[in-house]
Amino acid sequence: MQSSEKFAVIGDPISHSKSPQLHNEFGKEFKFKLSYEKVHTHSSELAARVDNLIELGYRGFNVTLPLKEAMYKIGVLRGYDLSERSIRAQSVNTVSIRKEKIFLDNTDGAGFIKSMNYPNGFNLHKKNLLIIGAGGAAKGIIGPILDVHPARIVISNRSLENIKILRERFNSPLLSFNLLNDLNSDSNLNDYENTGLFDVIVNATSSSVSMEDPLINPKYFRNAQLIVDLFYAKKLTSFLRVAKEYGCINVMDGFPMLVEQAAESFYVWTGLKPDTNRIISQRDIFFE
Ligand code: NDP
Repeated sequence: MQSSEKFAVIGDPISHSKSPQLHNEFGKEFKFKLSYEKVHTHSSELAARVDNLIELGYRGFNVTLPLKEAMYKIGVLRGYDLSERSIRAQSVNTVSIRKEKIFLDNTDGAGFIKSMNYPNGFNLHKKNLLIIGAGGAAKGIIGPILDVHPARIVISNRSLENIKILRERFNSPLLSFNLLNDLNSDSNLNDYENTGLFDVIVNATSSSVSMEDPLINPKYFRNAQLIVDLFYAKKLTSFLRVAKEYGCINVMDGFPMLVEQAAESFYVWTGLKPDTNRIISQRDIFFE
């Protein structure tokens, strides 16, 4: 009989995490015995926590805000095996431990691409994209989106600092960058109206956590075919609500991406592919 394998998610804050619920569902599907716990970990404790989880015989763990980039740096310093996708994002959300061999991966981008199955198998190929935000989530999804060959990606961020990092990291003629204030200025809106507005708009900022403001001039929503907010909650976010008011039919929050990136982590650890469709269609039980 298979003995129970130990997993965890580390981050700060961590109490809100749905990862234990998701991984327990995956385990049940395959009768794979596992425990999965939330371990609150402050940035200053990260290196010691990694050592501790290895020592305690954990099979793997997920890494969430704000530790993903720091986990990557620890991996580089210690010479752990790094997946191509973690190197590209320079951030890690999945750690696999097998007989003290440590493998670091990032499943966020794959999760985002797979989440495109939910608005009727939406294809990003040749689409004009606007990504708002240039933090960890944006860094994770840009590489896999470029692989699908969109027509172009405009990245708009509140401040210049993260734009500079992204510009250095991703060298593609399909990418252009601007400040959110400039995107929302009338002259820019006119420019975009002349060159064609966006087919897909992705809110990759953390603003939906607290803000009622739709973040961008709602005129941008007018012709879009798909609006995504990477944040997830029981209720529609104000960003998605305004998009709907402006006539967008396909709006999606980050729950499908959350489930898909978790399933991809589970696959990295176990080689098993959970039925994500079933879980996404039962989303209400995750918000009780
Ligand atoms: P980061 O802290 O790394 O980045 C935050 C980004 O949001 C930055 O670009 C920041 O801009 C911008 N921002 C924050 N507040 C505002 C505001 N009021 N107005 C405009 N821009 C703002 O966070 P992450 O990238 O890790 O996470 C972003 C979102 O994605 C979160 O909502 C998170 O929950 C979600 N997420 C969802 C996942 C999923 O599986 N569904 C996975 C990972 C993240 P600046 O650079 O100027 O500070």
